[in-house]
Amino acid sequence: MDLRKLNPYLRIAINVIYIMTVKEIIKKLKEKEISSAELVEHYLGRIKEADGEIKSYLSLNEEARKEALSADEKLSARGDSPLFGIPYAVKDNILAKDLPATAGSRMLENYTAAYESTVVKNLRGEGSIILGKTNMDEFAMGSSTENSAFGPTKNPVDTARVPGGSSGGSAAAVAAGLAPWALGSDTGGSIRQPAAFCGVVGFKPTYGAVSRHGLIAMASSLDQIGPLTRTVEDAKIVFPYLLGRDKMDATSLEIEEQGNIKNPKNLKIGIVKEFLGEGLDERIKNKTMEALDVYKSLGAEVKEISLPRASYGLAVYYIIMPSEVSSNLARYDGIRYGKHIAEDFTGDLLDGYIEVRGAGLGKETKRRIMLGTHTLSSGYYDAYYLKAQKVRSMIAEDFAEAFKEVDVIVSPTTPGLPFKFGEKTDNPISMYLSDVYTVSANLVGLPAISIPVGTVSEDGKDLPVGLQLMSPHKKDYELLDIAGLYEKEVS
Ligand code: GLN
Repeated sequence: MDLRKLNPYLRIAINVIYIMTVKEIIKKLKEKEISSAELVEHYLGRIKEADGEIKSYLSLNEEARKEALSADEKLSARGDSPLFGIPYAVKDNILAKDLPATAGSRMLENYTAAYESTVVKNLRGEGSIILGKTNMDEFAMGSSTENSAFGPTKNPVDTARVPGGSSGGSAAAVAAGLAPWALGSDTGGSIRQPAAFCGVVGFKPTYGAVSRHGLIAMASSLDQIGPLTRTVEDAKIVFPYLLGRDKMDATSLEIEEQGNIKNPKNLKIGIVKEFLGEGLDERIKNKTMEALDVYKSLGAEVKEISLPRASYGLAVYYIIMPSEVSSNLARYDGIRYGKHIAEDFTGDLLDGYIEVRGAGLGKETKRRIMLGTHTLSSGYYDAYYLKAQKVRSMIAEDFAEAFKEVDVIVSPTTPGLPFKFGEKTDNPISMYLSDVYTVSANLVGLPAISIPVGTVSEDGKDLPVGLQLMSPHKKDYELLDIAGLYEKEVS
C-alpha cells in the first residue's frame, strides 16, 4: 500500500498503531512510501500525544522538521547510508551542538552544547535527524530516572513503574514508539537495565568502540555510549555508524566486523552460576532458562560456568565509579562549568562552591562525590581505590578463563522486575543492587547486550524481562549475531 496516496489523517492513524523498526523505516523510505518529513511529523505527533504522561524527552529539536525537509530534498544524496533521513533520540548527557545538554542536572539546566559529540557528528554525517534529548538520572547516576532533577520518566508498559535508568528516557521513548531508536550511555548498566525494564534491546559495545568525546563524563574508565532499539536487527543496523577511532578520545579503538557466526550447533554458551542465586526473582530465573532452551533447540551447547570473583563486582564498582565521579564532577565549581556563582555574591570562594554545588547537585550525586572523595583520600586510597583496581583485574581474569570454555556468557540482566516509583528511593543499597549483573561488563570493558525474553504478569500488566549476553573484547558483531539467533527464532 502506498501510504503517500492516503489522506493525511488516515495515514497518521495507520502510523499511530504501527510502531516501526528502523529496518521497516529504511524500506519505507527507500520505496518512497513515506518521506523523512512525514516520519518526523509522525514522531512529533506521538510525542505530543503520549509524552505528557511518559516524560521521556527533556527537550525537542526545533530544527527537526526543517532538517527532515532538507533530507527529503537531498534524498538522492543518501547514497548507501541507511540512516539517511531517519530520526532518533539522544540521551541528555551526549552533546549535540546548539541543543540543551542538562545531564538531568540543575547544574546544567541552562547549558547549550557548544560543540558536537563525535557520535552525533558521525550520525549527522549519515543524515540522521535528532528528535530531542531524553531524560536520565542526574549525571547518569541511578537505576530509575528518579534522580533526574526534572522529574522521572514513566515506564510505558506500566506507568506506575520506573523505566529503569539511567537511560530511562531513551528506553521509554523507544518502547513507546516515540523514537525509532535512541542513544544511551552505560557506565554500570544504564543502557541494559532500562532496556530490560521497558522490553527493548540495549547494547553496550566494547569499551572504546564508540568515542566518548562529547559525552558528559561520569566515570571515564567505565563510560560507554550505545544504542537502544526495538530489535537486535536494528542494533546491528545502527551500530557501524557509531563506531571508530577518534583522535579526541585516546581510549577509542577500531572494531572489526566479524564474519557470520558459526553454525549455532557449534556455539558454546556459559550461564553464570553465581548470578542465579540469592536475590534473583524466581520468575526471571525461569525466563532466563526458557531463553537458554531456545538456544539449545538450535543446537547450542549450554553449560554452567563460574566467575568466582564477579560477586565482588558491585562492591568494586561502587568504589571505582564514585572515585572517578568525584574527580570528573569537580569541574562544576561555579566558575568554569555549569551554574555560576552570582556576580553580587559576597562570600569567599569556599562559600561560593558550597552555594553553587549545594543548589546545583542532587542528593545521590552528592553522596557519590563524598564517597569518591573519601576513597581517594590519602590514607584510604590504598585500602579502597587501589584494592578495588586489583579486584577489578581479577574479575577480568575470571572472564578470560571462562571465555576459554565458551563463546558467550549469559545471565539475567536484572535481579528483579521493573519496580514502582519510590520503592527504592529511601534505600540506596537496594537501588544499587539493580546493577549486580551488569557492572562486571563495564569493569572489564566487554561488549554486553540485553534482549527481551518475554514477560511476567504482575498487577495485571505484562512486565518485560531481559537476558544479558556478554562476549570477549571487540567481538561486538559476533555478540549481535548470537543475540540475533534468539530473536529470529522467537519472532
Ligand atoms: N545504575 C548504575 C549507577 O547508578 C549505572 C549507571 C550507569 O550505567 N550510568 O551507577
